[in-house]
Amino acid sequence: MKKIGILTSGGDAPGMNAAIRAITKTAIHYGIQPIGVLDGFEGLMNGWFKNMNYEDVDNIIQRGGTVLGSARAPKFKEKEARKEAIEHLEKAEIEGLIVIGGDGSFTGAHVLSSEMNIPVIGIPGTIDNDLYGTETTIGYDTALNTIVEAIDKIRDTATSHKRIFFVEVMGRNSGFLALNSAIASGAESVLIPETISDIEAIALQIKNQNKGRRSSIIIVAEGDEEGGAMDIMRKVKPHLKDYELRTTILGHIQRGGSPSFYDRSLATRSGIKAVELLMEGNTKKMIGIKSDELVTIDLKDAIDKNAFPKIEKEELLAKLLTK
Ligand code: ADP
Repeated sequence: MKKIGILTSGGDAPGMNAAIRAITKTAIHYGIQPIGVLDGFEGLMNGWFKNMNYEDVDNIIQRGGTVLGSARAPKFKEKEARKEAIEHLEKAEIEGLIVIGGDGSFTGAHVLSSEMNIPVIGIPGTIDNDLYGTETTIGYDTALNTIVEAIDKIRDTATSHKRIFFVEVMGRNSGFLALNSAIASGAESVLIPETISDIEAIALQIKNQNKGRRSSIIIVAEGDEEGGAMDIMRKVKPHLKDYELRTTILGHIQRGGSPSFYDRSLATRSGIKAVELLMEGNTKKMIGIKSDELVTIDLKDAIDKNAFPKIEKEELLAKLLTK
């Protein structure tokens, strides 16, 4: 194996750079030339490639985002566009491709891999943690810490002014960030997409909990079926006329920032493993982590088994906490 490609795709996540660094250094160590693909699948379709050397990955382990750039590239869903990508890969003599991204990126990577002979390995990089086959994804731990730190600050104001705050967090269609940040910040309530939200029950719960308290924090996952924090507050308001309600949407501060120890470590270990998997002749695999051991699962399973059915809250809580 002489050349391998590295690509980051979908939403950026803290720790992606640590993975790029680990792949680059490991490849060079084994005498393989690492090639960075710029701007995800967009760059793959356009042949935006860059030889990577040690200097390219100096001082990036501590930086959020991705030095290779990322992009949403809807055109990649078209077969003709993927054909162009394959031609660029073949022309550049790339013999293996490592894709760092989330669910959408792996769907793209899987379709691509079934149309070419170049092996593909996926590394989960998304703050949402919404992938099957791994306990955590690169960026998730950092995002949780960012959210908890922000909620702590909101709590100061909520307590000083006797207010009820609805705080919206990211996570797309999954409630991992909401649920676990709620636990770690001592939130009074949490709304997640995996359960059916009952507005009247939520209002009653807030009323009961708030008796004699100076503040309440309700975490709302952005993908909740009743809407975001603004919608929930509007719907709950008629039931809570005597209370002062506020909303905060944390937004993109959740995606950036210097990666935590955990994300740097996971990214580094996964990056090394990805190069070794390619060298051993593997393809269509995703690297996951279970009980602090790296595991390898089929990329197809990672995509297909990802959907969560709507289930009872208690059962779901148990599932999410032991995923
Ligand atoms: P994430 O990887 O974070 O879930 P997206 O869902 O935005 O991010 O997906 C990233 C990219 O993956 C898309 O912009 C597109 O290029 C590619 N992609 C997503 N779904 C498909 C698909 N069904 N077929 C081919 N490519 C896809």
